Amino acid sequence: MHFHFVFPRWQKLLEDHPELRDVISGYDVGNFRMAGLGLATAAGAVPSGHSVSLLDQNVAEADFDLEADLVCIGFFTPQATNAYRLADGFRRAGKTVIGGGIHPTVATADALPHFDAILRGPAEGAWEQIIRDFEAGALKPVYEGNPCAPFAAPRRDLFKDSGYLRAGTVQTARGCPAACSYCVLPNHAGTEVVFRSVDEVLDDIAGLPFPCFFFADENLLFPDAENREYRMQLFSRLVEGRNRRISFIAGYPQFVRQLRSEEIALMARARMQQIYLVLGLKQPLANDLNDEVLMAKVVELKAAGIEVMASFNLGNDGDIDPVEAEISSFCTSTQTNLAEFIIHTPFPGTPQFTQMESEGRLLTKDWSKYNGANVVFAPLHESPESLLNRYLALWRWFYSDITQEQVSARYVRAFGGGFMRQSVPAPAGA
Ligand code: SF4
Repeated sequence: MHFHFVFPRWQKLLEDHPELRDVISGYDVGNFRMAGLGLATAAGAVPSGHSVSLLDQNVAEADFDLEADLVCIGFFTPQATNAYRLADGFRRAGKTVIGGGIHPTVATADALPHFDAILRGPAEGAWEQIIRDFEAGALKPVYEGNPCAPFAAPRRDLFKDSGYLRAGTVQTARGCPAACSYCVLPNHAGTEVVFRSVDEVLDDIAGLPFPCFFFADENLLFPDAENREYRMQLFSRLVEGRNRRISFIAGYPQFVRQLRSEEIALMARARMQQIYLVLGLKQPLANDLNDEVLMAKVVELKAAGIEVMASFNLGNDGDIDPVEAEISSFCTSTQTNLAEFIIHTPFPGTPQFTQMESEGRLLTKDWSKYNGANVVFAPLHESPESLLNRYLALWRWFYSDITQEQVSARYVRAFGGGFMRQSVPAPAGA
């Protein structure tokens, strides 16, 4: 059988807000391209004896007439609108189409009308049954992957285009027990953490066709003993290897503030370049911005040579007042010179989405707008227009006074691209 995998296009920040082009287009932010790890892993899970191909719609157009037994479209919410168009097109052309990935897993009823079947959760452990049923002409509407199955080796070789960020993504675990109200991961991958063996992760890293990589897991810095032991082992082995730089690891303030000094030193020796610090998601942004323990930890990380990229989430229900002055002060105190701004987005499959839906606060279900660059819900303490305007002003403020030369000089540490500025004056009106 031939499997054709499709990674749908999604709208980037600069497509939604071309008016920001003059200030941020030099940073690879707003229109970057990245090979999708989830789809590459789903392709890697296809049993031997079958052939696979892959199309990334972000770099090439779909061919509805190609020869394939199964077309498999993997997507997260911002890709869903396009994924449905693609699925409808392939089915009109007589193909059998399977949907998988985060969005169809957590919003199965929304996706199902566009597909012959939905594969929920990881693809590992599901293809064998799908193949048997397809060959018998008896596909079921829904299949479940096995979250405890061994991790498949991702088929990154299927992404052929050279225009991607020069960094690969690597996964260390599935699942998360934290069940944060805004996060889709426990619903998608389960609440039990299944670690990948350190040897397997190192093999995966060794095979990357990039000089750098970043960890796709949002909870690698989780402060519990099991996670800490796992990452200490992983970083120690990376120190020994010294063959790749870690571009970044995502970290929430509640994780970062609990990092121990010996961990920070080890991460630096393992050549970690950045922590991607997401502020204002779990609690009001003002609380994170005024957290002195967190600020001290950011300073400690930077002193160890680990840059901190701050991602400011705007418009959470707990944000009662605009916090532009606090953002400025946080950036100054911590010498933050990498940043992004995100409009809070309630994703389907999260308790927060369900709550906002029941309160009648969702403004649209056009999933292409669920990309962090649009206001898709009614904020509690300001109008949607005010939130959007603040978001645009913050991007403009942070990136308005840096030159392309400065970008080039400081741009190279992570993945040949970054989000940097040198000084941090207060935004207008702060
Ligand atoms: S946000 Fe992070 S800690 Fe919370 S549920 Fe998601 S992965 Fe777990």
